[in-house]
Amino acid sequence: MTYQSVNPNTGKTVKSFEHLSSAALEQSLATAEACFQTWKHTSYAERAAIVAKAAALLHAHVDDYAKLATLEMGKRIDEVRGEVQFSADILAYYAKNAEAFLAPTKLHPKVGEAHVESSPFGVLFCVEPWNFPFYQLARVAGPQLMAGNVLVVKHAGCVPQCAIAFEKLLLDAGAPAGAYTNLLISHEQANRVVDDPRIKGVALTGSVAAGRSIAARAGQNLKKSSMELGGSDAFIVLEDADLAKTIPWAVWGRMYNGGQTCCAAKRFIVLDSIADKFLEQFTAALSKLNVGDPMIETTTHGPLSSEGALLQLVKQVDSAVAHGATLVIGGKRIDRPGSFMQTTILTDIAKDNPAFRDEFFGPVVSFFRVKDEDEAIALANDSDFGLGGSVWTKDVARGKRVASRVDTGMMFINNIDWSDAELPFGGIKDSGYGRELGNMGIQEFVNKKLIRTAHLDAPA
Ligand code: NAP
Repeated sequence: MTYQSVNPNTGKTVKSFEHLSSAALEQSLATAEACFQTWKHTSYAERAAIVAKAAALLHAHVDDYAKLATLEMGKRIDEVRGEVQFSADILAYYAKNAEAFLAPTKLHPKVGEAHVESSPFGVLFCVEPWNFPFYQLARVAGPQLMAGNVLVVKHAGCVPQCAIAFEKLLLDAGAPAGAYTNLLISHEQANRVVDDPRIKGVALTGSVAAGRSIAARAGQNLKKSSMELGGSDAFIVLEDADLAKTIPWAVWGRMYNGGQTCCAAKRFIVLDSIADKFLEQFTAALSKLNVGDPMIETTTHGPLSSEGALLQLVKQVDSAVAHGATLVIGGKRIDRPGSFMQTTILTDIAKDNPAFRDEFFGPVVSFFRVKDEDEAIALANDSDFGLGGSVWTKDVARGKRVASRVDTGMMFINNIDWSDAELPFGGIKDSGYGRELGNMGIQEFVNKKLIRTAHLDAPA
């Protein structure tokens, strides 16, 4: 059974769901297509009323949504409350700004006049991961509904109740049937959805493997896609970093959401002169976390999303050590019910160690010492991924210079405040292509149509 709510704090299965039948899937696609034919003609104000209402409903019921996510994927309750509020803010942001973002743009040809207008593509297929069960959905629903597209969405197998709740949220807010449809479908059915001629664009957030599979399929069909994939972000600590500010961010950057964030700080690259001090303070701070039930506010270290995720992570750490890495702390599952992993620090990760290139999706720190800034940048860039990264220094101008030389889609200086509704989010290399959020996010799936007027005679 692919769609199951299993509480990772206890390992108990709470609820299971059947896949959609072929007939039901066909009906969903037909309803979405029919909805698009009217939705594309609605005004921005009509769309905004619905999307803003969904934002208000999310704000009004933060706790209900938060508890659902904590139950299904183990994110700590206060973290999910923040996620739900942020999801509401994203919806509200697009309700307010979409019309301006998509307003016709005047061009200045040598002869006559011209402008570019934006019109929606049609039905979009979105494939989303479990690690932000609501934010990921808001990130596509807000901009795309406001652009006049409609969505059919395959959420991850372990968060079916969150997926269903988000569909209901939009219906409760007044969205017509077919504007946003949750699909409980298999990978094989997902492939058929990508092939379906009614689908005009594909957006996926998830692993590199899923991205390769769905992007290839979209490419075969000549359909535009955007891919938000994994990351192995560098956290570069220069010798003049303020450790009192840097260490709490290092802990947050690695441990938020149990370490299961695409743009989490994963590779800590520290200049030699400050490395011992950093490692000592970082180890001490990580060791103080309070392991427990993610529903309880005082817990600061919850479970991973699933037993499968835990087993995979332990296997990766074992392999790292077998290939010569040194284990500073952790490395094992925690001896209690549920899928809990010890906070782990690995050092001495040589270039031929699989851990050098792998993404660790959980509370595992990869620690590297470097002699200077150039070596830090070279190491940060020696990665298949290119999502985000950060630089820690009292010299902001130097921080900006370093940030410019790191090959990623996003860099942060003295913070890792990753995501804001107004700021574009996305990466390069194996981290994917395209951007979500901000003005750029709403431009991904609209036709940029040129209209030119010029009173010219045809060339002889
Ligand atoms: P995943 O296994 O790739 O799953 C993501 C979604 O893709 C799920 O809905 C999954 O469905 C679906 N999927 C996987 N393989 C598929 C296939 N062959 N055909 C159709 N659908 C497929 O990723 P995950 O382990 O859940 O999420 C973690 C990964 O996502 C990490 O690498 C993380 O860095 C990345 N991520 C990236 C961003 C970003 O913005 N760049 C944000 C969050 C997460 P099932 O659950 O049914 O398999």
